[in-house]
Amino acid sequence: MSRIDLHLHTTHSDGSCSTREVMNFAKQAGVVALAITDHDIIDGVPEATTIGKELGIDVVPGIEISSRLGDNELHILGYFLDWTDALLAQRLKTLRDSRHLRNPRIVQRLNELGIPMTYDEVRALAGTESVGRPHIARLLMEKKFVTSAKEAFDRYLANGRPAFVDRELPQPAEAVQWIRDAGGVPVLAHPTWVRTSADGLRTLVRDLKGMGLGGIEVHYSTHTPSQTNEYLELAKQCDLLVTGGSDFHGVTKPDIEVGIGRGQLKVSHTLLDPLNKAATAA
Ligand code: AMP
Ligand code: ZN
Ligand code: FE
Ligand code: FE
Repeated sequence: MSRIDLHLHTTHSDGSCSTREVMNFAKQAGVVALAITDHDIIDGVPEATTIGKELGIDVVPGIEISSRLGDNELHILGYFLDWTDALLAQRLKTLRDSRHLRNPRIVQRLNELGIPMTYDEVRALAGTESVGRPHIARLLMEKKFVTSAKEAFDRYLANGRPAFVDRELPQPAEAVQWIRDAGGVPVLAHPTWVRTSADGLRTLVRDLKGMGLGGIEVHYSTHTPSQTNEYLELAKQCDLLVTGGSDFHGVTKPDIEVGIGRGQLKVSHTLLDPLNKAATAA
């Protein structure tokens, strides 16, 4: 069984490795197809496709969009979208702009906590328009205020911590529709992050399917075997496609490797064809 990885971050958003570095790791792990799913940005597709041809890896155009539903932040992955779609580009730009409204407020909170930094420093470190909290975490590491991104989130950046600032996020129905409008298949990312009961998750997934959701990320680096089974069953019950990926970010999630997650992840290439067909059929 060949493996694939449909959830990867690069320096186009908050990953710390370039597209080429990520794809070299993928090659080493025996990955035959992958999707780069950077937050709110899809500009990396042509570069990834070129590198993929060189390395013999199929590249699926991908994206990850954060959305809010009540107390929950739901991440919606999109696959096989038309990355040249002008409306999609415009919508993603508004999401990146909302990051630039929030991030300086996080920096200000950190300044008030006695940590000197500027948003220009964060932007220089990020080197991309899609600037996220992991970039701020990395700057905190560079400045030696913390020794890991986990510590940065636990002490300052996570929801409920002193430097947390909310960002304006779309509804899941909007994120799903935007991906559909660009010809892609929307997939609920890492269901383990959803704070609800098993029944609550089933209801939520049914609702999302009504909005146009096409699949669930059943296979994920931090899913336990019993969670994987639960989500597989849920996908069957709701007639949704199954996907999987590592959510590799490089230094901010140092325990996660491309293609294999924490070592146990194996996403079968047989999942790709149904996903491609779903995109073409729509
Ligand atoms: P943002 O999109 O700027 O709100 O940042 C959210 C991103 O931070 C998520 O997509 C994760 O990649 C990352 N993240 C959240 N919590 C942690 C954590 N405890 N350690 C490392 N990265 C995290
Ligand atoms: Zn991320
Ligand atoms: Fe996510
Ligand atoms: Fe992700």
